[in-house]
Amino acid sequence: MRILPALRMFLKPGTTFWVVVPLILLWSSCFAQIRPVEKPVILLETENPRLACYDVTSYLLDLDIDPAKHSVTGSCTMYFMLLSPIDSIDLFLDNRLGIKSITDTVKTKLSFSRLGDRIRIVLPGYIHPGQTNWSITLQYGGIPKISANPPWDGGFVWSTDGAGNPFCGVTCQLEGARLWWPNKNVWSDKPDSIAFIVSVPRGLMAISNGKLRKSWQSIDGRLAFNWIISYPILPYNLTVYIGKYDHFNEYLHHAGDSLILDYYVLPPHASKAKEHFKQAGSILEVFEKYFGPYPFRLCGYKLVEAPYQGMEHQTAIAYGNRYVNGYNGFNFAPFQFDYDYVILHETAHEWWGNSVSARKAQDIWIQESFATYSESLFVEALLGHDSAERYIMQDVPNLMKNSFPLCDTIRGTAYTSDLYDKGSAIWNTFRNMISNDSLWFCFLRQIQQDNRYGSISTGELIRYVNSHFPSDYDWFFDQYVFSPYIPVLLLKKEADFPGRISFKWDACATGFRLPIVLKSGSTTLALKPSADWQSIETELTLAEMYQLLIRRYLVKVKVQGV
Ligand SMILES: [Zn+2]
Repeated sequence: MRILPALRMFLKPGTTFWVVVPLILLWSSCFAQIRPVEKPVILLETENPRLACYDVTSYLLDLDIDPAKHSVTGSCTMYFMLLSPIDSIDLFLDNRLGIKSITDTVKTKLSFSRLGDRIRIVLPGYIHPGQTNWSITLQYGGIPKISANPPWDGGFVWSTDGAGNPFCGVTCQLEGARLWWPNKNVWSDKPDSIAFIVSVPRGLMAISNGKLRKSWQSIDGRLAFNWIISYPILPYNLTVYIGKYDHFNEYLHHAGDSLILDYYVLPPHASKAKEHFKQAGSILEVFEKYFGPYPFRLCGYKLVEAPYQGMEHQTAIAYGNRYVNGYNGFNFAPFQFDYDYVILHETAHEWWGNSVSARKAQDIWIQESFATYSESLFVEALLGHDSAERYIMQDVPNLMKNSFPLCDTIRGTAYTSDLYDKGSAIWNTFRNMISNDSLWFCFLRQIQQDNRYGSISTGELIRYVNSHFPSDYDWFFDQYVFSPYIPVLLLKKEADFPGRISFKWDACATGFRLPIVLKSGSTTLALKPSADWQSIETELTLAEMYQLLIRRYLVKVKVQGV
C-alpha cells in the first residue's frame, strides 16, 4: 500500500520550511480523516521456536461471510511439515474470533490454549519431523475487527454501494492475516498455495486472489466461490471483496504469450472503468521491460473495486481511487502526468512485495522503496530520465521525517512515509553513484529472477548488492538504511581564492564515502568528499551546486561562510 504523501499536493521544488509548517497544520485540520497513521506502527517479528519448527505448505479456507451480521464463520486447514521435534506449535488468530475445535489430519481433536492472539496447539506424538501432508483444521468464527481507517488500519470494511447492496472488503498488511483467519502470521513462511472457498448471500459475488475455479449455489441459497492461488503468497495478501460486481477483461499480448487482465467494478462505474483501466496494460508492459515477466501469469492480473483506497493484494489489487488520475485526484508530479498512482504503485508491488517479498515485517522498506522507485521508472519510460529524477527527488527533503531508520531489526521498523519517498530517493542516489545504467537495470532484473516467489531480508539484499556491483556498499546502507539521518555535505567558498570551493562530509556514518558528480552544460565536477576538508576549482556557483546536488543525491547541503 501507499502512505498518502500529503504534502506533495502543496509543495513545489524548493519550498521552504516556513511554507511547509503552515501547510502541515492546514493538512492536519482539513484532511485528518484520511491520514494513514498518526503515530508510527512499529513492525517487529521476533524468533519463536514454536513457529520456526514447521513449514507451511498450503492453507484451505472455507468461510461463510455474512455482510448483514458482519460475521465470518468456517474452517481453516493448514498443511505443514514439521522441521524439528517439538510438543506444540503456535498459530495466530485475533482473539475476537472464537475457536470451536482443532483437529488433525485423522480428525483427532487436539488440545490448545489461547493467550491473546496466540493459539498454542499440542501436537500428537505421531507427527514426526520430515513427514509431509500433516494438517491441522480449526473451526472458528465470530465478528472480526472493523477497520477504522482502511487500508492503514487493518480489518473488515462493511459498506454498501450506491444502490444499497453490500460492498465489503478486508485488508490487514500491518496487523497480519490473523485479524480474520488463523495462520502462522509470519512473513518469512509463504505457503506455496491457498485454496479459498467463500460463501456469500445470493446476488453477490466474492472476488479473491488467483483463479476462480468454480462457483455454485448451496442448498440454503448462498453462493460459493472457489478461488485457487497457485503461487507462494504472503498471508496478508489474501483478501476477499464482496459486492454486486460487473466483470470485464482484456488480454495483454507479448512475444506469443498472453496475460489476462480481469476487472471487477460496481455496475454504475463500468463504462468509465473500461476507459480508465486501459492504462493498466501500459503499466504492466513497462514493468515487464524493467523487471521481467509478470510473475503470476497462471493467475492473471486483476483490479477489483474496493471500499478503500488501494492495496497490493497479490493478483487481485484493491482499487478505490475513484477512477481519476493522480492520488485522490491530486497530481503530485512536478509536471503533467495523467496516470493513476494507485494502479501504478500497487501494480509495481506484484514484482516488489508479492513476488520478491520482505523476509520479515521489519524489512518492509525493501518492497515499499522499490515499488515507489518503480513509479519513477514508469515516468522514465514515458518522459525520460530527467523527469523521472524530478519525480523522485522533488520535495523529498521536505517530506522526509528521518525520525527512524528504514530498517531496525532490533527495536522494529517504524512504518512511516520515509519507507516510500526516502527509500525511492536512496535507490536514485545509489544508481547515480554507480553511474552504470546497464549494470543497474541488469541488477533490477536479476534480483527479481533470483528471488522470484521468495523472500529477502535487508542483510541478504545488501549482500546481493555487494555481489552484483564491483565494490562493497555496507557503508552506503549503514548511512541510509540503518541510520535515520541523511548525510550532510558542507560547502564553503574560499574568499581568498575565487572559483575555489571546499567541501567535506559532516556527521556521517563511519566510512561514508559517496562520490559526487555534478554536470551542468559542458562542466562536469567530480568530488570525492571525505570527513576532511578538500578544495577544488570550479566554474559552478554554490547555488548551482546546491540545485544539482539535491536533484541527484539524497543529501543535506550546508553552506558555510557565505
Ligand atoms: Zn506500497
